[in-house]
Amino acid sequence: MPSAQKPSTGPFNPRRLDALRFAQAGATLTGELALTELGRLAQDLSGPIAPGARAIWSAQGASRPGPVGSEPQPWLHLQVRAMVPLACQRCLAAVETELLIDRWFRFVADEVTAEAQDDDSEEDLLALEPRPDLADVIEDELIMALPLVPMHERCPAPPAALQGAAPDDGPAVPERPHPFAALEKLKGRR
Ligand SMILES: [Zn+2]
Repeated sequence: MPSAQKPSTGPFNPRRLDALRFAQAGATLTGELALTELGRLAQDLSGPIAPGARAIWSAQGASRPGPVGSEPQPWLHLQVRAMVPLACQRCLAAVETELLIDRWFRFVADEVTAEAQDDDSEEDLLALEPRPDLADVIEDELIMALPLVPMHERCPAPPAALQGAAPDDGPAVPERPHPFAALEKLKGRR
């Protein structure tokens, strides 16, 4: 149809995304966010954030068919990957944990509509207006992706509790040979 307006393909501002146009254009945005800029997430992390630590993200817009007889609906596919330091719940040392996000969001007109539909909808909803800041959306998703019980696969040191150490013994000491290992050696010699 010659009269149909061809959607523009950008440029799009991820801090104030024109999500309708973004979806209609099937456009893609990618970027990186320094974890030090994500203050709300930082509160849930353990220890200092490495200066170069980043969340790498990509967002893709898509128009998908809505209910029969309605307009196509604007969607956003968000993928994020970040490594964050969390406190291991076994040994309390920092454990670098990978957060991976891969989610689809459907856009509705505004925040009131999003709230009204949120309970009934199994889909994740975002408001078209005010225009979303993708950095906020990404930070929200990273916070929700934090594991409840972060843990090393293998703790670098035996857990303090199992050593019978007092809680104020300070930071975990490096792994040492079993105290009886020397004795076993001695016994073997005789
Ligand atoms: Zn651990």
